[in-house]
Amino acid sequence: MKTGLYPGSFDPITYGHIDIVERALKLFDKLYVLVSVNPYKNMLFTKEERLDMVKKALEPYKDKVEIQASETLTVQHARHLNATHIVRGLRALTDFEYEFQMTHANRELDENIDSVFFMTANKYSFLSSTAVKEIARFNGDLSTFAPPFIVERIKDKFR
Ligand code: ADP
Repeated sequence: MKTGLYPGSFDPITYGHIDIVERALKLFDKLYVLVSVNPYKNMLFTKEERLDMVKKALEPYKDKVEIQASETLTVQHARHLNATHIVRGLRALTDFEYEFQMTHANRELDENIDSVFFMTANKYSFLSSTAVKEIARFNGDLSTFAPPFIVERIKDKFR
């Protein structure tokens, strides 16, 4: 059984993240989605809110997907869950440098856990949680960026 681990802030989860999950599920029998808790990152949503949104958004995949929060290093969590691969998404060039560094750091920490990258559908390749929050701040239309219930939660935050 192939197990992958998809870590992220998911602040909030978008159609871009969901697209990566769908692609990863074609390769992995089981996918853990890890909602990272990083006190150094400024989040709009709390850990509980992010977990709840990820759980609801990924409900259709619940047979193969399990959602957890993580306050430890991703490789430690991967080892604990017997996951062999860390799943990440790649958008335009800007993601590469960061992902390159993270992959090598993770490899230093555990040579046996490798990373795999998926590219989203073109229509999501410029989509980020940051962009979603910016657009929400100015009351823009988010219907093509995230599921309707997420759009409502974002709007509530800015009301
Ligand atoms: P992090 O803070 O760990 O980067 P994010 O929630 O922003 O967390 O992203 C988690 C992962 O999902 C990252 O690998 C990111 O590149 C990827 N990702 C996010 N949005 C998209 C998208 N629209 N297309 C492809 N990958 C994406």
